[in-house]
Amino acid sequence: MFHFILQDFRYRHKDHMLKLERKESVNMNKDYLISMVDMDCPCCNKTHKVEQRKRLTQSIVKGETVDYEEIYFLCPLSDEEENEFVPAGLMDENLLRARDSYRQKKGLLTSYEIANIRNYYGLTQSDFSAMLGWGDVTVTRYESKTIQDETYNNIMRMVYDNPMFAIERIDKHKERFTSEKYARIRKSIANKVEEVGNLYLKKQEISSLYVNYGEESDLNGYKVLDIDKLENVIGYFSQFIDTLYKVKLMKLLWYADTIFFGRHGKSMTGLVYKHMPLGALPIAYNEIIYLPTVKVEEKLIYDDISYRIRPNKEVNISGFSLEELNVLEAVATKFRNLKSKDIIDYMHKEKAYTATIPNQVIPYSLARQLNELK
Ligand SMILES: [Zn+2]
Repeated sequence: MFHFILQDFRYRHKDHMLKLERKESVNMNKDYLISMVDMDCPCCNKTHKVEQRKRLTQSIVKGETVDYEEIYFLCPLSDEEENEFVPAGLMDENLLRARDSYRQKKGLLTSYEIANIRNYYGLTQSDFSAMLGWGDVTVTRYESKTIQDETYNNIMRMVYDNPMFAIERIDKHKERFTSEKYARIRKSIANKVEEVGNLYLKKQEISSLYVNYGEESDLNGYKVLDIDKLENVIGYFSQFIDTLYKVKLMKLLWYADTIFFGRHGKSMTGLVYKHMPLGALPIAYNEIIYLPTVKVEEKLIYDDISYRIRPNKEVNISGFSLEELNVLEAVATKFRNLKSKDIIDYMHKEKAYTATIPNQVIPYSLARQLNELK
């Protein structure tokens, strides 16, 4: 249960790390000035501006060589060989970065990730320790110096992945808290259970409608439905298009998917589209707009309910590839000012539409003849 959260979490962090690694390897053997700081310089025993610099360096952690970013000070006035220094506090930070680098290498949570998990539930270090039945300072040590073993690591990861597990843990170690504190923390975890549960149920609902499209085929554009990607695509359109209604959104999704397919042989989201009176509509189009990240506003216009999609700035749209952004931008630009009705008319002329019959799933291969947006 809640397994997808684990993937989200790892993906986010891995993605971030990969970017860092790439940047660092390019910058290997270079160092950078980050700031000038006024301080008592131990090199020349005077107070003056010293350079704070950063470089990629290596260290040995638990017998393994790891690359990490070291921050140090350099005295620009000194012509001695010993013109660098690292105060004790900064030394600790550097060591922490070296150990985090080791953790990344070993697939363990970094000290930063451990703090994130704790903050996710609004816990202090000692509360987090108490909740897990560990010694008071265990988490403090993990965030500052000690590298956790795999068993402890997996427990912390499970707490994040599955808030129900977190509830279980705090109930088990209730006696470690005052009753007020226990109630407050339990409430905060319970809120997460609800939040994650809703997301989980909504994803389950959509997945169940796609149960027959679990394999890559011409019907899903050779991509199995990726709900996280779908949420991000909706997030993108909702931010860049002012008046976005449900029907219009569905058309934009279709164009994004089919154009991407035409260019790269794969759809963007893996949605499966059917020939419907209003043009191509994805399976589960009613459920999609109730994904928790989609901000939908229902309004009664005459006898009809209109569904307006509002921008949600919390959706992360920085993870798109350049190929994806290129297509998303083209679609958004083309249709930004068109009304739903005009897009429907436009779509009705597409070969993919005219060559299929009502209710039929539209194969992506028909989209090869799509009017590329001009
Ligand atoms: Zn100096």
